[in-house]
Amino acid sequence: MKREGILVVISGFAGTGKGSVVHGLMEQYEQYALSISMTTRNPRPGEEEGVSYFFVDRERFEEEIKNDGLIEYASYCDNYYGTPKKYVQQQLQEGRDVILEIEIQGALKIKEQFPTALLLFIVPPSAAELKRRLVGRGTETPEVVEKRMRRAAEEAEGIGQYDYIIVNDSLEDCIRKTHEVINAARLTPVRNESFIKEIRNELVEISRK
Ligand code: 5GP
Repeated sequence: MKREGILVVISGFAGTGKGSVVHGLMEQYEQYALSISMTTRNPRPGEEEGVSYFFVDRERFEEEIKNDGLIEYASYCDNYYGTPKKYVQQQLQEGRDVILEIEIQGALKIKEQFPTALLLFIVPPSAAELKRRLVGRGTETPEVVEKRMRRAAEEAEGIGQYDYIIVNDSLEDCIRKTHEVINAARLTPVRNESFIKEIRNELVEISRK
């Protein structure tokens, strides 16, 4: 049976550790491909061009929108973020599950275009723990931390639209649970339409003999 890749959207408030979850999935399992987004935000210390993001200016980003090169894009905290189309299509065709680490507006646009996409939301154990992690990261100014906490409160309104929530308390547990949920989702009939069609045809053939 030819394996079909699925789109896996992973969202979560800034500071939830969703980046570490995604990193763990990529390191521990071969079935995944990670989509690298395009953004107009400035690189943070340690971030690399083409690894963390493709860092571009607004003009270049708007050109990409015009050329229909993005599957989705959104504006988040005054910057554009978007998912390049080509890589995602290529990896899905090759049978990999493609991970999109994106925020909620993008997640909902993906669900509209790809109804079989799996939407996962990684949550912190509590709001206080989230603030502690954001401040502890030390890469953001207090104003940015405040902005991101307000944004988290807004984003929490949309969690009900996701398929699963996964608590990131212990990172290893969270990675394992995420992988299990993805593998279970891959077994649902809606995500295996061509296999079901194939086996139905074969059954008809064999029962005729
Ligand atoms: P950060 O600036 O912390 O790297 O990312 C800010 C937010 O943008 C995060 O919630 C991240 O998941 C989201 N994001 C990153 N890439 C994309 C993208 O391509 N599309 C959308 N819609 N959101 C993205």
